[in-house]
Amino acid sequence: MRERIPVGILGATGVVGQHLVARLAAHPWFEVVWLAASARSEGWRYGELPWRLPAPMPERTAALRVGPLDPATAPDLVFSALDASAADEAEPRFARAGRVVISNARSHRMDPLVPLIVPEVNADHLALLERQRAARGWSGGIVTNPNCAAVLVALVIAALRQFGIEQVAVTTLQALSGAGYPGVAALDALGNVIPFIDGEEDKIERETRKLLGTLDDTGVVDAPFTVSAQSTRVPVEHGHMALISVALADRPALADVRAALDAFGARAAALPGGVAPLVYIDDPHRPQPKLDVARGGGMTVSVGRLRACPLLGYKLVALGHNVVRGAAGAAILNAELVVSVGRVLASA
Ligand code: NAP
Repeated sequence: MRERIPVGILGATGVVGQHLVARLAAHPWFEVVWLAASARSEGWRYGELPWRLPAPMPERTAALRVGPLDPATAPDLVFSALDASAADEAEPRFARAGRVVISNARSHRMDPLVPLIVPEVNADHLALLERQRAARGWSGGIVTNPNCAAVLVALVIAALRQFGIEQVAVTTLQALSGAGYPGVAALDALGNVIPFIDGEEDKIERETRKLLGTLDDTGVVDAPFTVSAQSTRVPVEHGHMALISVALADRPALADVRAALDAFGARAAALPGGVAPLVYIDDPHRPQPKLDVARGGGMTVSVGRLRACPLLGYKLVALGHNVVRGAAGAAILNAELVVSVGRVLASA
């Protein structure tokens, strides 16, 4: 690709939006040329607004002015890091106006016509995009990435699906940055565990089954296994941990489960952002957010502590970067997938 594709960011000022800006600065295919956020940020140059990442703000982005959610001025490909309250209405409006929206928001993930994608798990579901366009009469479209905890479960379960998944039980310990900025009040979070995250358990249970589902003429048929999730918020900056137990129909030996995790982990998506999706760490004290969250630039999920579970057969621990693998990096990988199969350039 000789010239980079111009892209925009909806919600460029939030936690995910800033990570998108940072990760796209040196992207080989995409160039950020357009930014939008709420009326609170509108009219300011991006460089005049608060920046909360340790790396300096990319200079070219700093010079851009933040505009309103107006598709008329936006490029053909836009990332959405909008709060769901804004994404509900704005994303379909952009799609109707011919923009392809690569969204982090929960708003349209479970829409039967919207692909919910993790490229290493279900890249074939992207075929839904053509059906979405035809059914809605849109020249653009919406493609989504999953909830930041659901992606951990989906990657682990995808590695094991050859054994026949029967049941999944997952308890999550989720980082503060998952709540956006300013997120959870410090006095609630410090030295504490909060045993409720609104809507999170339902998202993990439903999105995992859609991601592992099968695409047929009727749409995505959810995977037939059951998922039970419990979610907690813990005082960690970045990195969601998932304690997963799984029942497998074939009752494989632990060594075969481990081999399947290793084999899946070795298969990076053939895209610029593709890295090992999983890595198994042979240390009973790992994975830990402090040590492992940045693995693979934040795109590799760390897995450890595989052992027998007296209830479901197998249990393990998975850890992933919620803002990268769970949001900004996931969206960029999805955009790479969309472009690589020609679905943006065909309409541009
Ligand atoms: P955030 O820090 O609260 O940022 C929200 C963004 O949406 C800001 O840019 C904000 O603009 C904009 N916004 C809010 N209301 C708006 C409105 N009415 N019109 C236009 N723009 C509006 O949230 P975040 O953590 O970045 O999350 C962004 C999205 O990604 C959410 O849908 C979230 O659920 C999802 N997500 C987040 C994570 C994570 O780990 N943080 C992971 C997966 C998915 P202003 O700055 O101008 O207010």
